[in-house]
Amino acid sequence: MQKMGFLGLGIMGLPMARNLMRTGCELRVWNRTPGKCEPLATAGAVVCDDPAEVCAASDITFAMLADPKAARAVFTGAVAGLGRGHDYVDMSTVDPGTSRELAAAAAKQEARFLEAPVSGSQKPAMDGTLVIMAAGDRSLYEDAAGALDAMGKKAVFLGEVGNAARMKLVVNMIMGGMMTAFGEGLALAGRGGLDREVLLEVLAAGALANPMFAVKGPAVLRGEFVPAFPLKHMQKDLRLALQTGDELAQPLPTAAAANAAFIAARQAGLGDLDFSAVCRIFTGS
Ligand code: NAP
Repeated sequence: MQKMGFLGLGIMGLPMARNLMRTGCELRVWNRTPGKCEPLATAGAVVCDDPAEVCAASDITFAMLADPKAARAVFTGAVAGLGRGHDYVDMSTVDPGTSRELAAAAAKQEARFLEAPVSGSQKPAMDGTLVIMAAGDRSLYEDAAGALDAMGKKAVFLGEVGNAARMKLVVNMIMGGMMTAFGEGLALAGRGGLDREVLLEVLAAGALANPMFAVKGPAVLRGEFVPAFPLKHMQKDLRLALQTGDELAQPLPTAAAANAAFIAARQAGLGDLDFSAVCRIFTGS
């Protein structure tokens, strides 16, 4: 029986770990706030006292953490448990530099490392239909295939560490820009006396139709922002995408404007709501 570990049981990590358990593996888990381990403990997972204990007892440990700071902090606590046959897959959304640092530290322990950030929110995480972008050790990617298959509907291997982090940031930069454009559109429609429900219908019927507007649109109109993807994490992704653009001398003026709107939303106290709450910056409701 494969022995697997999972660190970070937030909105995404908990359902991903649950799907991992469905492969029939023995699962060990750890989360900074221990109470979040309870649903998995009830389902048969072993709760560990620290990340190193998880890694030392697992063939492969997966991590799903908030941001680069959290990914680094947890990895630092995990690294003593890594070694030959005790490998690490970081699925958090971080910048390429952070990923490379973790990969180098894992290599010092003779452990294999894979970065594997995901596209798709809470519902795809629950349904096991995430899109997984992986890069790093190819043999670990192959050995983790069953686990990745349980968590996602598609996985792509992108070569050297940093490429998957970069791909993920590109995807979320586009998503952040789409959401701010959507918010501005809703605001302008409302300001001009148009029925915003009809705007949603028109968007859904044409070339701009997409699942994000279809799912988030009605909730935005109702003023409901239950966090599937917390706004603070979206702003982190825009910040990291802009940082990457800066490093590569790639101008990203639209992403910079979107980032400013998300910062304003954080300043307005909306950081823990769903990222669609950025629309409130424009609609005021
Ligand atoms: P979340 O619900 O906020 O969970 C964050 C996790 O990180 C929690 O387990 C939290 O522990 C842990 N954490 C935060 N700071 C920490 C620290 N300093 N030390 C140790 N642990 C720390 O976020 P999420 O939505 O699951 O997102 C997780 C990652 O997936 C992020 O990188 C996000 O950008 C990415 N992502 C999210 C979505 C989405 O739709 N939600 C989609 C794709 C990718 P506590 O429980 O103790 O706070």
